[in-house]
Amino acid sequence: MIKGKSASGKSARRKGTGQRAAHRSLKAQLILAGKVLVAEGQDDFTRGHISFRLPDDPNLFFMKAHSIGLDEITMQNVLTIDLEGKVIAGTARRHSEVYIHSEIFKARPDVNCVIHTHPTYSIALSATGRGLKCYSQPGALFYEALGSYTDTINLIRSHAMGAGVARALGRGRAVLLKNHGVVVTGATIAEAVIGTIMLENGAMVQLLVEAAGDPAPEFSRADIEKLKADISQPEQFTINFDYLVRRVKRRG
Ligand SMILES: [Zn+2]
Repeated sequence: MIKGKSASGKSARRKGTGQRAAHRSLKAQLILAGKVLVAEGQDDFTRGHISFRLPDDPNLFFMKAHSIGLDEITMQNVLTIDLEGKVIAGTARRHSEVYIHSEIFKARPDVNCVIHTHPTYSIALSATGRGLKCYSQPGALFYEALGSYTDTINLIRSHAMGAGVARALGRGRAVLLKNHGVVVTGATIAEAVIGTIMLENGAMVQLLVEAAGDPAPEFSRADIEKLKADISQPEQFTINFDYLVRRVKRRG
């Protein structure tokens, strides 16, 4: 009996250690993701946030804190938050737009990472009211997978507004918040980060094409769908995210 108890105590301790190690490695990825996003021009002062769902508790997520840049995330300032937007662990200030993350995590069990940023070209495209065309390869990643949230230019500061963003996302990959920014999702941190960068690139090319005027027709649905399938492979996100991490580390 005593022997049994001590064995189960040992396994619980081992589980606790494993869980802490897994959480640390997740936070380390969030720290790198923040640095990559800033290096890729996704910063807007201290605005913008990234979150990741805890693999061992899908009702909780880690999230960047308020008042710091995306490249200032540390092991200590990451918050643990529940699906109602309540801080469960951590003492840093919480972003008021937490509901973008909590409501998407509620609505989409397949999404583990949510990024919200204010990138210039994506905002400019959102202000035109036009969707993203496939004028470049990144456009194909969002083919029939980009929602549009048009209720307000204001911050997403309530459950209801967050739910509105989740509705605009639907089964898609990302949402343009009109005249405000983007929300990009992924099963992994790599997928959400690369998606955010590709969305901005696709929007930039489109605005250049439209400014030049008289765009030629896009390619056929079948052609675009083939590229979409190719560039949506998880390996594509990992390889490119890992490259950007190495580059950010080289630059110091
Ligand atoms: Zn915002």
